Parts: sequence; C-alpha cells; structure tokens
Amino acid sequence: MRDSIVFLDKVSKIYPSATGEVYAVRDVTIAVQPGEFFSLLGSSGSGKTTTLRLIGGFEIPEYGEVYIGGETVTTLPPYRRNVHTVFQNYALFPHLTVAQNIAYPLTIAKVPQKIPKSEIADRVQEALRMVRITELSDRKPSQLSGGQQQRVALARALINRPKVLLLDEPLSALDAKIREEVRQELRQLQQQIDLTFIYVTHDQEEALALSDRIAVMSNGRVEQIGTPQEIYSRPASPFVAQFIGKANFLTGQVIESNTEFTWVNVNNTNVKAIAPTQKPAIGETVILMIRPEHLKPLDSSTEHSIYDNQTAGKLKSITYIGQLLELHFDTPIGQLKATQLGNSKTNSEQAIGWNAEDCIVVPNGN
Ligand code: ADP
Ligand code: MG
Repeated sequence: MRDSIVFLDKVSKIYPSATGEVYAVRDVTIAVQPGEFFSLLGSSGSGKTTTLRLIGGFEIPEYGEVYIGGETVTTLPPYRRNVHTVFQNYALFPHLTVAQNIAYPLTIAKVPQKIPKSEIADRVQEALRMVRITELSDRKPSQLSGGQQQRVALARALINRPKVLLLDEPLSALDAKIREEVRQELRQLQQQIDLTFIYVTHDQEEALALSDRIAVMSNGRVEQIGTPQEIYSRPASPFVAQFIGKANFLTGQVIESNTEFTWVNVNNTNVKAIAPTQKPAIGETVILMIRPEHLKPLDSSTEHSIYDNQTAGKLKSITYIGQLLELHFDTPIGQLKATQLGNSKTNSEQAIGWNAEDCIVVPNGN
C-alpha cells in the first residue's frame, strides 16, 4: 500500500455543524497506483471534493494518514506535495495571457530556486504543445472558449511536472458535445505523459469511460473500488448496483447454494443465480440484480431452454433510448426492464429468459 503513488489510510475529515459534527469523509482507504486514471465517483455531497482536498493538502484530516510517493504528507501544505490541483472553475488570472497564466506556478516565491527565463519559456511552449493550444498563447482568458480555458488550466497544472494531477469535475462547465471531446483528449494526454490522475466526477458515464479504476463514494464513505467492469457487473452493495447503470432487482429467499450457483425463491419462482463474493445462507433474504441487456425477450421461435431462467411476461410499455428499445414487462416475479434492438408490440405476451451468470446476488454492503 505504501508503494502506491497516493495512499489514504483510514482518513476522516470532520466539520463542525449546528447539530454537532459532520463526517465529510469517513474512514476512507484508497491506494492509487502510478500512471492510473483513478476516479472518485458519487453524487453531490458524498465527499469527493473533500477527499481530493485531503490529498492536495487543502485540508488536514482528523484521523488517518496521507502518503504521497511513500512519504507521509498528512500535515504538509499544498506546495510541499508533489501534486497539482485543477479546480472546477479553472481559476485563471483574467489579466494575464495564456502563456503568463501557464508560467505562473514557476514564477511564484514558493518555488525552491529561481528558474531562468529561457527555461520558463521553453517549458511553457512544451505545455502549450501538450494540450495543443500553441496558437492561443497571447490571448487573455476572456477570449477563450470553455474548452480552451480548460486546456490552459491543464497546461498550467503540467508546468511543474507533478507526479499526480488532481482534477475536480474539470469538465462540468462545458456543454455536452465539447465535454465528450475534451474527455477523450484528457485520457489520451494522461496516457501519453504517463501521469497519475485522480479525477472527481458525479457523472457515472464519464467515470466508466475514462477510468482505470473507480472509487464509488456515498455519505463520505467508499462503497466500492474497482475497474469499471467490476463495478458494473459485480457491484459490492445495493447502493452501487442502483447508482451505476440500469438494473432490475429481485428479492427472494435462498433455497440452495453451492460453490457455483445459488437458487433463490422469488415469489414462488425458482431463480438460478451466482453469488460472486460470498456464499449466502439457506433461508437468507437476498437481492438479485440483472442488467436490462441480459434479459432476453423470447419469441415463439426462440429455443427457450438455452436460458437458465425464464418467466412469463406482458410487455406494458416501450421507451426509446437512442438506438435501443427499453421494454417494460409485468411478470409473476415483478416488473422487469429489458433492452433490445428492433421492434416489439406492447401488450403482447412474451416469455423472458436470462442466465444464471448474469443474475447476481448483491452483497448487503455491511
Ligand atoms: P462532493 O464533492 O462529493 O459534492 P464534499 O466533499 O464537497 O462533497 O462535501 C461532503 C460533505 O461535507 C457535504 O455534506 C458538505 O456539506 C460537507 N462539507 C464540505 N466542506 C465543508 C466545510 N468547509 N464546512 C462544513 N461542511 C463541509
Ligand atoms: Mg465536489
């Protein structure tokens, strides 16, 4: 853990409040590896910014330790840490040009020794090239688009050659189309220069698209850390399962469980599932999750027996989501939604099939 580039060891941050105290961050342990694109994902107020500020040195935790590059930095000020923070609003100086804004971190007094002018100019050029805004170097921030301002903020962050870049919702001020463009560039840049990114977002799609790993946060705690794939297909708690992507949930009692499969009684239908993390006890009430893309509406010609599970269904309504249809069924085990390409008719009777490996017993999260 201590060989991680950033390691938070059971960190808590407490603020006083009218009713006593609030844990903005509670008992958070995160180990980020060099070169990772690591995201903190959670809804507003879940503790993402506070976590980032604890890493950046803008807050000092009440409990726990912060390590950067294996060194304890828990109480060190921001400029003594080899990280750089890109703030949500970019914080560019309006009266300075793009080049002057980017050079700024090299010109302030906290830099250990004075850097020669020619080297500053070279490094500004290098940073401008990295984010591909060389032609904008003489403009003022007010003469730039949101996406361009974002690149200036990024270039300024890179000028000190930090080990870790901390980014707090850096794309939230951009409109949807540019956001997608800039996010791809951000990912490419991060891979090119082999820098570690710790990236705060409330946008699950953004986190899934960009990250090597994600920490899902809720109420100041980390609910799960994993790759986008792990978090999507093996959620560690009901919270994560409903927070990430769309899902169907079924509740039932465990009839039988072996090392491979678990059978669950859902409203008198026997559902075959898997329990990836922990074998549940017989009689235990469990929550099953099935992603909509894993529920297959079966037409009469389909070979029903290829699916481990099936139920009768009545197609109640259809929603168009891009190219896909989302089909809403009433079934004896509850309402289910399935996604598919192509057409379907509402109020038709249709069986639905799904496989055990796509039907996950969700850990209760405690
Ligand atoms: P996020 O970035 O996920 O939206 P924050 O880390 O900003 O969440 O905040 C987490 C919680 O801590 C919230 O309930 C917020 O109101 C509280 N909080 C954050 N900063 C302060 C502060 N300086 N004083 C008091 N409470 C704070
Ligand atoms: Mg925030």
